[in-house]
Formats: sequence, structure tokens, C-alpha cells
Amino acid sequence: MPLYEFVCDDCQREQEHLVRGEETPECEQCGGSRLTRLLSVPAAHTHGGGGQLPQAPPPGPCGGSCSCFPGG
Ligand SMILES: [Zn+2]
Repeated sequence: MPLYEFVCDDCQREQEHLVRGEETPECEQCGGSRLTRLLSVPAAHTHGGGGQLPQAPPPGPCGGSCSCFPGG
């Protein structure tokens, strides 16, 4: 059975449950049945952030009809 992560809507406790099919487990803390399954995300944590943004290519010659050249 797959192991899923849940968060309780009532007490916001995060927990893991083995679920089968469409079964919804109960909260291990408050016993509530309003659990929201968290999406299992791949390990894509970035430490420190600072992702590299794609940079726009430098402006090049666009032709005589383009106004990107001053005085053109
Ligand atoms: Zn709960």
C-alpha cells in the first residue's frame, strides 16, 4: 500500500498514512476524518534559492525598418 502524507483540516497535524484505494484515514491526533492528502513532490528543494533565470538574448540588428537603432 502506498504511503501518503496528509494534513488534518481540524488540527493541521501532518501525518502519514497507508491508504488503499479511496479510503480516507482518520487523524491520528484528533480522530477527525477531514484529512487532505498532500501531493507527493519529488525532491526539488533548493537550498538558498537564487535560481537562474533565463536571460533575454542581447538585441541584435533587426533590419533597417526597425526602430531599435538610434538614428537609423
Ligand atoms: Zn486532527
